[in-house]
This record gives sequence, C-alpha cells and structure tokens, in this order.
Amino acid sequence: MKNIQNFLAQVRSDLGDQWVDQRPETLVRYGEHTLPGQARAPSAVLFPESTAQVVAIVKAANEFGVALYPISTGNNIGLGSRAPARAGQVVVDLGYRMNRIREINEETCYAELEPGVSFQILRDELRRRGDKLMVSATSGPPHGGIVGNAMDRGAGYGPYFDHFGMTCGMEVVLGNGEVIRTGDGSLDTESLVNWHVSKFSFGPALDGLFAQSNFGIVTRVGVWLMPRPPASRSFHFVFPDDEDLAEIIELCRPMKLSNFVPSLFRIANDLYAMAPDERNPEYLEGSRQSVSGVARKALQGKHGLGAWQVSGMFYGASTAAIEPLVARVRGHFERSGKARYIGHDEALNIPALRIAIDSMSGEPSAGELGMLQWRPGSGNSWFLPGTPMVGSQAMELDRLGRSIYEKHGMDYIVMHVASARFARGLHVLVWNKDDRGENTRADACYRELTLEFSKRGIGVGRAPADYADLHMEQMMPSLRRACQAIKQALDPNGVISPGKYGIDLPGAE
Ligand SMILES: Cc1cc2nc3c(=O)[nH]c(=O)nc-3n(C[C@H](O)[C@H](O)[C@H](O)COP(=O)(O)OP(=O)(O)OC[C@H]3O[C@@H](n4cnc5c(N)ncnc54)[C@H](O)[C@@H]3O)c2cc1C
Repeated sequence: MKNIQNFLAQVRSDLGDQWVDQRPETLVRYGEHTLPGQARAPSAVLFPESTAQVVAIVKAANEFGVALYPISTGNNIGLGSRAPARAGQVVVDLGYRMNRIREINEETCYAELEPGVSFQILRDELRRRGDKLMVSATSGPPHGGIVGNAMDRGAGYGPYFDHFGMTCGMEVVLGNGEVIRTGDGSLDTESLVNWHVSKFSFGPALDGLFAQSNFGIVTRVGVWLMPRPPASRSFHFVFPDDEDLAEIIELCRPMKLSNFVPSLFRIANDLYAMAPDERNPEYLEGSRQSVSGVARKALQGKHGLGAWQVSGMFYGASTAAIEPLVARVRGHFERSGKARYIGHDEALNIPALRIAIDSMSGEPSAGELGMLQWRPGSGNSWFLPGTPMVGSQAMELDRLGRSIYEKHGMDYIVMHVASARFARGLHVLVWNKDDRGENTRADACYRELTLEFSKRGIGVGRAPADYADLHMEQMMPSLRRACQAIKQALDPNGVISPGKYGIDLPGAE
C-alpha cells in the first residue's frame, strides 16, 4: 500500500494532480467487464499525454514495484473491456489524451497514430480531407482504438483486414523504461524517412513481440491505408440450411485462393445476422434452453434471411466495371442450387447485410453492438478458433460448437470470416450475467469449447482476459518459458500487465 501511495505521489508530480484518478466511481467503471468473472477494479487510473510521461510512469512503477495495465481506448468488449488483468493494477489510459493523428501521408498512404485514435476519429478526419483514403473498419465499437485493436491482433473485412499486418513501424516504451522504434525507424536519428513505409531494417524484426503480450507500451504506430476506390459493390447469398456450411466453404475457397474476391467473406449464421436487431423471443430467466429451431425459422422468415448469409465486396473504377465481377461470383455460387442472391442496393436496406457493407467499405458502425441485448444482463464473451478452408472440416467443427452451446443452454451465434486457406470462427456468447446459474453455464461453455477444440488441434486467435491462463496452459511449455525469458529481459520487474495473455516473470504467480 505504501508503495502504491509513493508511486502515485511521484506520478502526480510528473503528470499533474488532475491526471491521476482514484475516485471510487472511476475505479468501478474501469473494473467492469462483460465476462463471467468478478469485476477487477484498478487501484488508480492515469492519463498521460506524451511518450515522455509514459516513460515517467514506467520508471516510477519500476522504482516502487507497482503493476500497470495500459489500454488504448478500452473498448475491447467481450474480451475484457478496460479492466486490468488483475485487480489492483494501475490502468494507464493512453486514449484519453494521447489521441493525436500525427501524420496522414496521401502519397504513400499511411497514417501515424497515437493509441487514442479510434476508427471513427480517423474515418472523420479522412472524410474531412476529401475521402481519398479508407480506414479498415471492424464491425465492433466505432470508438475502439486502431492501435489497441492492432496490438490485440484484431481484424477488419476488406483487403487491409489484417490490422497488425498493416502496421508499419512502432514506438514502444519497454517495461524497463527504455524507448525503442521498430522497423526502419530504428536508426538513431530523428529525421526518419522510411519508418512507416518499410517494415524491416537492419537486425531482428521486433514488432511482433508487442502484439498480444506485455513487454512494452506502444505509443505511436504507422498504419497503412488503402486508397478509397471510386466504386465498391457488395454481393450476398442466403443459404437455407445449417448443413450448407460445408458447401459454402468449398465455394468461397477458390474465389479467395485466386484473389478474385478482394474482401474476406463474412459467413454469418442466422443468429449472428439477426441478434443485433432482435431479442431472444423465447428467453425466460432461469431456463436452460437454447433458442428453438422453430423460433430461428420464424426469425429467418421475418428478416428474409436464412441459416447462413455470405457477404463479400468488389472495389473498382466504376459500378459498371464491377458488375461483370459480381456476375461471375453470382454464377459460381448459384451453381450450388441453394444460394439466393441479394444485390448491393437491396442489401443496403437489410440491417444485417448493411453491417457487412459498412465494415468492408471503411465505415465504422455501431449496429452490431445490438447483439449484446439478444439476452438481458449484458454478459458477452468471444471464443475465437478457426478452421482450414475445407468444407467437411468446417462442418464438423460447426456441429461440435453448436452441440456444446446447446448442452449449456446458450444460443449459437457464429460468423466464419473466410480467407483463402483459413476461416476464423467468431463464436459469440451472450447471456444474462445477473443470473448466477446462466453466468456459470456461460463460463463452462467457453471452457468446454476450448478443451474440445484443442483436442482437435485448434487454438484461438485471441481470448477473453479471464481465460488467458487456460489458453497459456495449453501451449508448449517451451513457448511459455520463452515468453517468460523475454518478459524478464524487457520488463525485469514485471511492471507491465503481469498475467495478461498468461505471461509473467518466471516463478511469479
Ligand atoms: C459486437 C462486437 C463486434 C466486434 N467486432 C470486432 C471486429 O470486427 N474486429 C475486431 O478486431 N474486434 C472486434 N470487436 C472487439 C473490440 O471491440 C475491438 O477489437 C476494440 O476496438 C479493441 O480496441 P481498443 O482500443 O478498445 O483496445 P483496448 O481495450 O484499449 O486494448 C486491447 C488490448 O491491447 C492492449 N493494449 C492496448 N493498447 C496498448 C498499447 N498502446 N500498448 C500495449 N498494449 C496495448 C490492452 O492491454 C488490451 O489487452 C468487437 C466487439 C464487439 C462487442
């Protein structure tokens, strides 16, 4: 306790009194999350305004042995929100004051961002500058941070979907208080030319160390942006039956392997597509039932959708130039005899498909957040495994996931996001956190999904904070030891987010 008070006194003198917040209501707000576990209130929240202030915080944390937890905007809903990895860690909220767009380069098409720049802030600024460049949006909260999302290896749906892959050059405050620049920014000079256009320089490429880890605090990042094309047109197919997934995967694969379709495919099941605009019509508190097949069919009829909806997008010089591309993809899918085509103009008026269009055309939108109200009580977590792009394998895993959801009385909400060789399966759990039994079942469901998928050789791409240890325990012991060794080298006192992603100093709890 003495250490934390001494630490805060030091930080108050470095940042100014008003940027150190210990009000009870602030601590409650920063400790809340949507996962099954207890809230994890921090002991203080700090609001630095520069890299120099972040360095001062990290140095003080080392001096007084205090654990920090950096966030960008803290909108990681369903994965931990802004709550620290462990109760009592001091949240460093970078987003509140470090939210400057430091540069937008319209020749080589990148932006240099601080952690607080949200998808919406960058979208608005690009529009103000004449809409020449496009942000790769998620379908998550528009006020989520581009840097936080990239460091958590989040993704969008357009050609620049790989958000960590589209970063180029970072500034990082290491756990020992030293500042490094990665990539071509590592030259020891302030006049940098290639920092945000060339990923690699002399020596090892260190960038990957700072994604999904706790070795440093990222304070500046270069992000590549796609030139906004003159025209973009989406296409959509509705399939009637759950078992159609196998065929859908087979249909999508060649379109992606040949790079004919430049966006990813969003393959949303009925509930993923409709939950944002619906409440579970059969929900009864205390009931252990998943929503019935009859209710699902009724909702499909009401929305004019099916068991699966497949969406993708083309970009080009004009609508006329794109139409033949849509015609080709339409012919390919309609050969299945089951696909019902929905064109771009019609889809604009169907909320579920509109979300797909927005996310592929660089428009942040809040529409999908509505799915958190599918059941009351605001419980939400995301299980994020994946499948090779082979129909039979995808189908087997889909049956497995659905059966585990049903066993625990959860509603099967899933979207497969398909690239050429792999599809990430966004499995959403929405439940009533206020109902203790339901909360316990949601937790058990996540754990069983993890166990059963890992038995089949399948891990996750990202995990809710409550399950970091569960996932780390499934990794090779040598990987865990390697992470601990890096932690010790870059953060010898373990001050940055100890426990996050299951990484800590060797021998620590
Ligand atoms: C309905 C819904 C839809 C969603 N759709 C998507 C989607 O399509 N794609 C997607 O990727 N996500 C999606 N999400 C998840 C999430 O909302 C976003 O990824 C979010 O925007 C993350 O950004 P953030 O700034 O809020 O991250 P934060 O919460 O600030 O941080 C995320 C993680 O990175 C770490 N971190 C943050 N900043 C730094 C830093 N500067 N240095 C070191 N570590 C740092 C944090 O400790 C934390 O572990 C969705 C969520 C919901 C509820």
